[in-house]
Amino acid sequence: MAISLDRVATISREVATALDDRLSVAGVSATEGGGGRVEVLVTVEGCHAEPCRHLLNVTRTEAGVLEDELRSKLLAALTAHHPE
Ligand SMILES: [Zn+2]
Repeated sequence: MAISLDRVATISREVATALDDRLSVAGVSATEGGGGRVEVLVTVEGCHAEPCRHLLNVTRTEAGVLEDELRSKLLAALTAHHPE
């Protein structure tokens, strides 16, 4: 059973805050035509490219999987776009 969007938002904020305090979750929305995935819009504060937004497409069928995916995609976004 899919995790609710509210719950995804809560988990996303927890994971983002734990990783880097520049990360903030701007919104969560369901993807077209399916309950298994969700898009999380994240902004990075203090970036030279303002506003700095990253749209992450993650699974929401299981909380543990969701957290792992969020963590790796947030880290990838940070290191790719913010090498320091
Ligand atoms: Zn950036």
